[in-house]
Order: sequence, then structure tokens, then C-alpha cells
Amino acid sequence: MNKYDSERIAGLLCKYKAQYEENTQNADVIVFNTCTVRESADDRLFGQLGNLRGVKEEKPDLIIAVGGCLAQSYGEKLLLKFPQIDIVFGTHNIERFPYLLKSRILTGNRVIELKNESTYDISCLPSSREKSFSAWVSIMHGCNNFCSYCIVPYVRGRQSSRPSSQIIKEVKNLVSSGVIEITLLGQNVNSYGKDLADDLNFPKLLKSLSEISGLKRIRFITSHPKDFNSETIKVVAESERLCNHFHLPLQAGSNKVLKDMNRGYKKDKYLRLTEEIYNMIPDASITTDIMVGFPTETEKDFLETLDVVEKVKFDNAFTFIYSPRPGTKAIKFNNNFSHKEKMNRFKRLVEKQTSISQMKNDRLIGKSFNVLVEDFSKKDKEMLMGRTKTNKIVNFNGDSNLIGRIVYVDIISAKAHYLIGKLKL
Ligand code: SAH
Ligand code: SF4
Repeated sequence: MNKYDSERIAGLLCKYKAQYEENTQNADVIVFNTCTVRESADDRLFGQLGNLRGVKEEKPDLIIAVGGCLAQSYGEKLLLKFPQIDIVFGTHNIERFPYLLKSRILTGNRVIELKNESTYDISCLPSSREKSFSAWVSIMHGCNNFCSYCIVPYVRGRQSSRPSSQIIKEVKNLVSSGVIEITLLGQNVNSYGKDLADDLNFPKLLKSLSEISGLKRIRFITSHPKDFNSETIKVVAESERLCNHFHLPLQAGSNKVLKDMNRGYKKDKYLRLTEEIYNMIPDASITTDIMVGFPTETEKDFLETLDVVEKVKFDNAFTFIYSPRPGTKAIKFNNNFSHKEKMNRFKRLVEKQTSISQMKNDRLIGKSFNVLVEDFSKKDKEMLMGRTKTNKIVNFNGDSNLIGRIVYVDIISAKAHYLIGKLKL
């Protein structure tokens, strides 16, 4: 979601003839579009601001702006704590950023603007996209779920779905400009449309989008087990264009912890859903988010999480240690078990998942897949990097003119987090 917003901020700046500068030392304006979902994200920003203090002393005309979720949460406090910041703008003020920048340049005064809700649709702002062939499409903003650990509903506001007609129009325009892959974005895509009178639900939206000719791949994140249903699996199973990858955050395997997290589902329901996915789409991949160290999690609860990991055999998992967030309900729980114990659970979880990821990737050796070539590989600049429909990263040798195209690749070896392939000629 932040990447999506950043593309809009860049799009607005480009509209006013700004140019992208790779090296921050040479930039006239530095914009941080921040996350605040865990304390580590806050710390990263504070570290970067610390590094820029000296740069700003040498170059007083440098303008530093901080937007996004952390800005929405900290507000005025940022200006008080960091004299090097010139502009603070919230998650609902992105379209105003060029005006705030102009005001800072013309008056020399520091500026702050924070609204509690949006009065415009960010999707209508110009966008400066990273890739010409692939695009994010936000289908809804905000979240109503109030999971007890999560700051997102406080910094992003209530759920607001975009009318399906607008989304379909945007996707058609993207396709006519050369986009072949879209990723639909929302904090809980399965509850899409519940706040709209008389519009499509999520599976019906997927179906309509899958009928747009020229579009090759449709992805969506994030699914929420509470609202995820068979109708969605069925639509994905029926369309070649809908990618057979589901990101279905588990968070925890124990019913007690899930209840304390206010997740709205139990372990059994989660297991049933994943079983249904594998039954209807045997080659589907399932990835997840898991958190350890929630304040009420005991060793027994943690073993329930490992049990789900073992049973579902996720292709990959994003793993986190619980981080207390100001203003959230989970703050009221005593967070008194030791850091050492949390690290121990985290390590055991990562070890188990890594061996499962390796085992699942090993099974793909000898098979061939359609791969959308995205870029050069991060690991080896001589190689290309692409993704299968199941969202597996594949590195292989090939010419850079393949970037943006779908090619056929044989898998020759596998690591836990990526595959190595050979271009089929
Ligand atoms: N809307 C998505 C997730 C958005 S946040 C969903 O509900 O699945 C992405 C992930 O960050 C979450 O799935 C969760 O695992 C993690 N996360 C959120 N708040 C956190 C916190 N306070 N501490 C640690 N991890 C957190
Ligand atoms: Fe946060 Fe829960 Fe909403 Fe996801 S669904 S953004 S975890 S409150």
C-alpha cells in the first residue's frame, strides 16, 4: 500500500516537472513515505533522519518531508523532535503535497497538514509507476477490523471500497497503456464492497476483471481468513488469468490468541479454508503472515501455530515478533515474557518454515513454468528475475529485452526462497 502511495507522490511531483534523483546527496527534496506497523519501522525512519541532520546543516535549502502512516500517528511531535523536518503530511493529504511543498519554498515556514479522512480518491492522482508492464490497483482504502495489535485502522481510517465501475475502467486504461499484470490491493480484499450499496462482491469483481482482454495476470493482497470464501477459490480455479497464489495471514494457531487478537476466525476454519484451496487448485501456493510473542501467547499456544505451519505447508511466511503499538487494544495486555523466549519461538518458527519452503520448492525441480520477467536478479545482476503465477521467484540467464515479457522456464534447482531456472528455447 505504501509503494502504491509512493508512486502517487512521485507522480504528483513529476507533474510539476520534478526529476527523480537516485543519490540523496544530490536531491533538493527528500520525501519519506513511512510505515508504522512495527516499532522497527519507526526506528528506521529516526535513524535516517539522524543521518540527514549533518547533510541539512551543510545544505540548508534541502527540504525534508515526512508523510504516510508514521506521520499520521506522530503528527506535530515529529516537528518538535526533529528540527531537520520541513513538511509533515498525513495519509489523507497526499494530493495536497505539491501545495505544501510550494508553501515551504515560498514562505520558508515549516508545514504540517493532517486530515482524519480523505476527501478525494488517491487512485485518481497521477502515478509514476516503477514498472510499465505491472501495476498496483487499490480496490479499497482503510480497514474496519481493529485486530487488537494493529495500528492500521487508526492511521488509514475506515474501510472504503471504490466503486467497481471505477476499478474496471482504471484496469482497462492500464491494459491499453501496456500493463499485463495487476495486483489488487486492500487490507482485507475479501470484504470488498460490503460498505457499498448495490455493487459487486470480491469474487464477482475478480470475475469481471478476468474478462478484460489483454490482461494476462491478476493478483490480489491481502486476503483475510474471516471473510475469505469458497466463491473466491472457485473463481480463481476457473480463470487462467487469476493467479493461483493466496496470501492468507494466519497470525497465530491458538484459538485463545486468535480471540485476543480479535481476528474473527478459529484454527479449524483456517485449516478448512486452506484444505479447500488445495482441493480445488492442487498446484496453488499459499503464503502467510505469522506473529510470535503476542502478550497472551504461552508455549502451548505457540505449538498450535507450529501445528498449523506443519499441516498447511505454506510456500512462504512473513514472520514477525509482536511489537506494541500506541493506541491499540493489545497494549492493555501485560507484555511480560522475556525477549529471549520470544526470540527462541521466532527462531523455531523460521527454521520450520524454511525447511518446508525448501521442501516445496524442491518438488518443482524438473517442471516448467510461465514466468513474467520483472528485472535483473538482486542476487546476481547477470541473471534475470521473474515470477511464476504462484508468485515464486525464478532466476535464470537471458537477454534484458525479455523484461516485461512472459517466458517459459525449466526449473533446474531450488533454494528455500527462490528457484533457479533455464530459459526454454
Ligand atoms: N491487512 C493485513 C495485514 C496488514 S499488516 C492482514 O490483516 O492480514 C501486515 C502484517 O504485519 C500483519 O499481517 C501482521 O502479521 C504484522 N503486524 C501488524 N501489526 C503488528 C504488530 N503490532 N507487531 C508485529 N507484527 C504486526
Ligand atoms: Fe490490521 Fe487486522 Fe486490518 Fe489487517 S485486518 S490491517 S491486521 S486491523
